[in-house]
Amino acid sequence: MGTLGVDLGGSSIKWIVLSDGHDVVAQGQIDTEAERGPQHVLDRIVALARSAQGEHGGVRALGLGMPGPLDLERGRAVFLANLPGWDDTPIVEPLVAALGLPVALINDARAFTLAELELGAGAGVRDMVGITLGTGVGGGVVVGGQLLLGLNGNVGEIGHQTLVPDGPPCGCGNRGCLEAFASGPAIAREAGMATPEQVFEAARSGDRRASDVLERAGAFLGIGIANILTCVGPERVVIGGGVAAAGDRILEPARRELHRRMRAVPLDRVAIVPATLGIAAGAIGAALWGARGAAELTPTGAAEAR
Ligand SMILES: [Zn+2]
Repeated sequence: MGTLGVDLGGSSIKWIVLSDGHDVVAQGQIDTEAERGPQHVLDRIVALARSAQGEHGGVRALGLGMPGPLDLERGRAVFLANLPGWDDTPIVEPLVAALGLPVALINDARAFTLAELELGAGAGVRDMVGITLGTGVGGGVVVGGQLLLGLNGNVGEIGHQTLVPDGPPCGCGNRGCLEAFASGPAIAREAGMATPEQVFEAARSGDRRASDVLERAGAFLGIGIANILTCVGPERVVIGGGVAAAGDRILEPARRELHRRMRAVPLDRVAIVPATLGIAAGAIGAALWGARGAAELTPTGAAEAR
């Protein structure tokens, strides 16, 4: 018996079948084909789930991680910056109807956090914050070993904390969010380059402007983490996503800024560490979420499925 975890992104759908003992039974990746609209993408997930059921028998639930904001109570997407046309789209109901399986929906950064907590850099920790630095900046908050959801599952939207009142515009409609400074696109734009990877490369070869941009993004990340520490008190902050590949070029300024600003928290007991599960973390977390909570999370859908 296992659970299918699906990580739905703007360009690819990553999936994994996890056994009850957390062994990887199978995994893979297909193109999202987002340009063909939500129905087509949901059909692709249904086909994926059916083939996983056929090939690996005994898939008992589907966990689906995707960008948010989501409405977990109603099993819908609210709007998705990287998947245009998904505003207020039902997700859980059509998947349950097509598959007859319990379906548990979760934000992708919360899925990342859960995976790192249980099987990655957060293993053994009870109070942890996960941060994904990628196309956007997402997060998840774990207190006492429990992933916090809060109102509509939106606890952890730490990329959208305001750091500069009249700062650069953010995709969420606000200005000066952490995401507007520390996301991949923000870093590339600030450095005048096409991709964040080019900025990392330039910084490695000694380009001053690229180094300064990473330094600044890291400093803002540090301020964001300082704010989180005061609110939540984690002992470990796990950082993943494509921008985390910059490593200490972004983490060192973050740690420096943290030490400059935080007096109220014993920083020698807080570790800021890179994630360890790589790009599969989102799918792994979705599978863990599906295995753990499908019935409770999707009362309508799961009740129909049983
Ligand atoms: Zn924002």
